[in-house]
Amino acid sequence: MGRKTANVVLNVLWGEPTIAVDTHIFRVANRTGLAKGKTPLAVELALEKAVPKQFVQHAHHWLILHGRYICKARKPDCWRCIVADLCAFRPKTKKDD
Ligand code: SF4
Repeated sequence: MGRKTANVVLNVLWGEPTIAVDTHIFRVANRTGLAKGKTPLAVELALEKAVPKQFVQHAHHWLILHGRYICKARKPDCWRCIVADLCAFRPKTKKDD
C-alpha cells in the first residue's frame, strides 16, 4: 500500500488527521502558495504545518473538491473562487477568459 492510500484509509476509516496528497491537492497547494513542495511528500509535510490541527482531517476532502471543481488543472475558475483574496496565483482568471 502506498503512502497516499494509507493516508486515505487512516483518514476515512479511522478518522486520523492525515492528508493524502493526490494530483488535485498537489496542484492547489502549490498554486495557492498554501504549501509549496516539489514532491507529494514535501507538500504533505508542508500542509501538516500550514493547516490547523482541528481542520486537518477534513482539509483533505475540501482540498480535493476545490481542486476538482474550482481550482481546475487546465484553467482555474478564479472568478468564482471564495479564497481568491488569499491565493497567490496570478493572474486570476476571469469569467470570459
Ligand atoms: S483564486 Fe484561482 S488559482 Fe487561486 S485557489 Fe482560487 S481558483 Fe485556484
